[in-house]
Amino acid sequence: MSIRENIQQVRKNIAAAALSAGRRPEDITLVGASKMNDAAACREAIAAGIDALGENRVQEMTQKLAENAYDGAPLHFIGHLQRNKVKQVVGKVALIESVGSYELLEDIDRQAEKLGIVQPILLEVNIGGEEAKSGFAVSEVRAAAERAKGLSHVVLRGLMTIPPVAEGEHGSVPYFEKVHALYVDINASLYDNKLDILSMGMSGDYEDAVRCGATMVRVGTAIFGARHYTL
Ligand SMILES: *Cc1c(COP(=O)(O)O)cnc(C)c1O
Repeated sequence: MSIRENIQQVRKNIAAAALSAGRRPEDITLVGASKMNDAAACREAIAAGIDALGENRVQEMTQKLAENAYDGAPLHFIGHLQRNKVKQVVGKVALIESVGSYELLEDIDRQAEKLGIVQPILLEVNIGGEEAKSGFAVSEVRAAAERAKGLSHVVLRGLMTIPPVAEGEHGSVPYFEKVHALYVDINASLYDNKLDILSMGMSGDYEDAVRCGATMVRVGTAIFGARHYTL
């Protein structure tokens, strides 16, 4: 299967999941998680109509930016962002999906101010409360969203989450439901329902995510095949 055929299949699955939940397929943004896939693969996905590409590692992203890998599609940063690499990401991407601490939030705002821009962001929610994962604890997300509101060089667009490795089929659903509820609550009570992005769902669970209200899914292996770990 080619990247193009994979994207068509994923789109079909998204559409079916959306329709089954009474949602419109066109309201779901498909982000290709292109880590460990080269510039040619990124270009292929863009030519096949992917909505955006998402990268995890700053070094790999910088290298592929230099190769014009993302021309023609918005680029998202979706991985763990170290504070000392903020400069290499702010202003270079259309959306930073993985803002998981106050320190990072403030650093991004400061860097965006220096550049004279407003950086769109999502807050990452550590929905499983996992030690090894980054992101705000559920109990912190509301306050973080309030903090983001007070900063003038970031614009909060919504929430992102990566649930714990699923146990069995539909194992992610309880987590997706929790993050969706959090998103709806913060959106209504703090943001006048102006938030428009709930990013959740990957190759193994994006259909469940769509049924649970995701407006954005991040799909890697189901589009690009197994990752090339040598890259
Ligand atoms: C790699 C990655 C994905 C996609 O994972 P697949 O299981 O390959 O679809 C989605 N989100 C993030 C943050 C990732 O790092």
